Amino acid sequence: MENCIFCKIANGEIPSATLYEDGEFRVILDLGPASKGHALILPKKHAADIYELPEETAGKAMILAKHMAKKLTDALHCDGFNIVQNNGEVAGQTVFHFHMHLIPRYKGDQVGLTWKPGTLSDEDRDDILARMGR
Ligand code: 5GP
Ligand code: ZN
Repeated sequence: MENCIFCKIANGEIPSATLYEDGEFRVILDLGPASKGHALILPKKHAADIYELPEETAGKAMILAKHMAKKLTDALHCDGFNIVQNNGEVAGQTVFHFHMHLIPRYKGDQVGLTWKPGTLSDEDRDDILARMGR
């Protein structure tokens, strides 16, 4: 993909602080970190989002996320870990090349990934189950 910044970073055209690399992925430090160690898993082959991502790449990305979470936790002694993946502008996606956020969490940090819980109404539950063919 021309003019995709993450294609250029993933494929080494633009230098990045790389924590891991193999034939299919590069893991880099985020330039605007939510916390110390915030990293991004980038597939080298362009897919805009989870809808475009091939199943096999999705599976491998999750396995890589697991390994990176362990490595980062051991290295940084964080107290917890978030894995975040945004799809679409409304969901907070700003770079339209699939990526997974690896966000180490520390006691007392100010990382805001929470939402105000609503209440599941009977109407919504039944509507959703029906739409999902359940
Ligand atoms: P999104 O909002 O699309 O889920 O996440 C995009 C992330 O990419 C943001 O956390 C942002 O800080 C990071 N980012 C944007 N441009 C660059 C860049 O050129 N280099 C690196 N390392 N991170 C970037
Ligand atoms: Zn791309």
